[in-house]
Amino acid sequence: MTRKKRQQLYYQKHKEKMCHYAREWAKNNKDKRHIARKKRYLKLKELGLLKTRPYIVGGKIYPTKKSYNSDIKKQVFSHYGIKCFCCGENNLSFLNIDHINDNGREHGTGKKNGKYKGVALYRFLIKNNYPTGIQTACFNCNMGRRINGGICPHKT
Ligand SMILES: [Zn+2]
Ligand SMILES: [Zn+2]
Repeated sequence: MTRKKRQQLYYQKHKEKMCHYAREWAKNNKDKRHIARKKRYLKLKELGLLKTRPYIVGGKIYPTKKSYNSDIKKQVFSHYGIKCFCCGENNLSFLNIDHINDNGREHGTGKKNGKYKGVALYRFLIKNNYPTGIQTACFNCNMGRRINGGICPHKT
C-alpha cells in the first residue's frame, strides 16, 4: 500500500475527528492564520503576482507552475547541454533527456511505471547531482534511436 493510500484510508476512517481538530485549531489560532495569510499576501503583492497563480517550492516563488517547469528544464539542460547529441538541434522545446544505455528504469525505482518522466525526471536528476549516462537528444533522434535498436537512423 502506498503512503498516499494509507493517508487516504486514515482520513476516511477518522474524518470527523480530524475535521473537528482542524476547526478547533483554526478557532484557537485565528491570529496565526491571519498573520500567515497577510504575510503571503504582502509578499505576492510586492512581487506583482496577486493576479497569477504563483507556485511556491523550496521557499522560492515562481509566477506560475509553468514558469517553474521551464526554469527547472533549463537548469537540467544547461548541465547536459542544450544541443541534440546527434543532429545538433538546439531549440529547448524539442529537447529531451536520453538515457544512453536505456537505463531509464534504474532512475525510477519505486515509481509505478518504473520511470520518471518530464518534470519529475528533471527534479530527480537535480536531486541526484546530475547522474552520468544521460545525454540531450531531440524528440526525433530520441525516438529514432529507440526504434532503431540504439542507433539513430541519421547515423545508419
Ligand atoms: Zn536530434
Ligand atoms: Zn539523429
